[in-house]
Amino acid sequence: MAKVEFRRVRKDFDGQVVIPALDLRVQDGEFMVLLGPSGCGKSTLLRLLAGLESVSAGEIVIDGRVVNDLSPQARNVAMVFQNYALYPHMRVRDNLAFPLRMRGMKRAEIERRVREAAGVLGLEALLDRRPGELSGGQRQRVAMGRAIVREPAVFLMDEPLSNLDARLRVQIRTEIAALQKRLGTTTLYVTHDQVEAMTLGQRVAVMEAGRVQQVDDPLTLYREPANRFVAGFLGNPP
Ligand code: ADP
Ligand code: MG
Repeated sequence: MAKVEFRRVRKDFDGQVVIPALDLRVQDGEFMVLLGPSGCGKSTLLRLLAGLESVSAGEIVIDGRVVNDLSPQARNVAMVFQNYALYPHMRVRDNLAFPLRMRGMKRAEIERRVREAAGVLGLEALLDRRPGELSGGQRQRVAMGRAIVREPAVFLMDEPLSNLDARLRVQIRTEIAALQKRLGTTTLYVTHDQVEAMTLGQRVAVMEAGRVQQVDDPLTLYREPANRFVAGFLGNPP
């Protein structure tokens, strides 16, 4: 069964069609990358799935259930943003614990989850620091930690590496791949970077102007691009 399904999803902003009618299925445990140029609708798609925007038409399905009318909290997805969105005045441990406290979770369970996420991400020694005392890479790890502690059904990552320098990008990219292997959580990962998409994605959905042009594993995309756009965008023009 698909973990996530977009069924003929449309999104308009002020009468402008941004996504006309999109179908996409993400399998349980899959790491899928949404790849496309700036402005093609990648972030909008994640925001629709997270419930931060509502669809103009069509259905969004998680675990077989139509979630169109569910609040973001009720959807059991966790989003990692490109600009971290950490609380600057809170220590790392409180940044991690915050989403759980908001849910009224018991203290012992919160502590267990924070410890586990810190272990997975190598943040143990940084738990008492504040975001201003961390490097860019460490901040990005905390942002991921805040998604992990929620143990969501789906991770959504919107260009999580775009604020990092080239060296850190490679390092965190490797960590994200390892994390996905270890946790096995279904992930939808947005990027405009072909290298990132091809190295991380089990499958890659190539988008242009609100439409999915092709969904395939990286090798197939290179060898058998469905059209000129896909071939050109992957730097492999016919
Ligand atoms: P991407 O993430 O692929 O760069 P976006 O999903 O951010 O693309 O945007 C897709 C299109 O929708 C763009 O033309 C953008 O200007 C438009 N858009 C996104 N959010 C809004 C909004 N809240 N109001 C109006 N237009 C929007
Ligand atoms: Mg975007």
